[in-house]
Amino acid sequence: MEITFFGTSAGLPTKERNTQAIALNLEPYSNNIWLFDVGEATQHQILHHSIKLGKVDHIFITHMHGDHIFGLPGLLSSRSFQGGEGLPLTVVGPKGIKEFVETTLRLSESRLNYPITYIEIENHLSYQHNGFNVEAHLLNHGITSFGYRVEAPSTQGKIDVQALKSIGLEPGPKYQEVKNNETFEYNGKIYDSSQFKGDEKQGPVAAIFGDTMPCNNELLIARNANVMVHESTYIEGDKNLANNYHHSHIDDVFDLIKEANVEYSLITHISNRYTQEEVESISELLKTKSDTPPFKFVKDFDTWSF
Ligand SMILES: [Zn+2]
Ligand SMILES: [Zn+2]
Repeated sequence: MEITFFGTSAGLPTKERNTQAIALNLEPYSNNIWLFDVGEATQHQILHHSIKLGKVDHIFITHMHGDHIFGLPGLLSSRSFQGGEGLPLTVVGPKGIKEFVETTLRLSESRLNYPITYIEIENHLSYQHNGFNVEAHLLNHGITSFGYRVEAPSTQGKIDVQALKSIGLEPGPKYQEVKNNETFEYNGKIYDSSQFKGDEKQGPVAAIFGDTMPCNNELLIARNANVMVHESTYIEGDKNLANNYHHSHIDDVFDLIKEANVEYSLITHISNRYTQEEVESISELLKTKSDTPPFKFVKDFDTWSF
């Protein structure tokens, strides 16, 4: 799978960074793309990329702050003309997301040519789609904010041809039965299929956070994730300042990475007080410390495969 950032700024856009938007390309498990947050001008950013809006079948909103949702009505309208006609869309988010979209569309007399299903989360979401499992948990951001844990489908273990040959079963259509069933019958005997297959492999896990200061639920979302996307509005200086505004400081994020055993972290939602040059030099400095976990401060259009 692949994560692409269309906006990496906090609060306001800058000349270098747009407000928040992340695309999760589900290949090879699905041809669809899921968006997480749609800051203002997300659709303009997408025009500079090969992603087609028609492929987006789910939009997950972390919270209702403008830097995460002000691009939504425009993007939904454009989807009608960019391959989305007749293709259903599911919008998942906090209570109020449906009213926000429907009110802006109604007042602007915009009509969509595809259906939208809304899922409004109260406290927790457990959602399954095409083998994917999505969990959402509440964060601590002053306003209702969620983090999403996305687990890709697990893949079956490979057929052990040698083991099957040893019971006299040569490659053929029967192998499909071994692959798909818990037991199979051969020459009047019932066999346990798992004895003839490798272990099932859990698909990759992504943890994608909305704005938050540190809280216990973060661990539920991030535990053992292959990749984590997390805000760090403050990448240096006083930690209390970040937490006073219900945001995270880079030290909070590093603590979480270690505690949750996250493999790699992409850090976004960076305050507009920092120029790109400053972000890079702070990054260099952090990476000289031996206890700094693997991470990257992302910028717009950065991608990460996992
Ligand atoms: Zn924000
Ligand atoms: Zn926010």
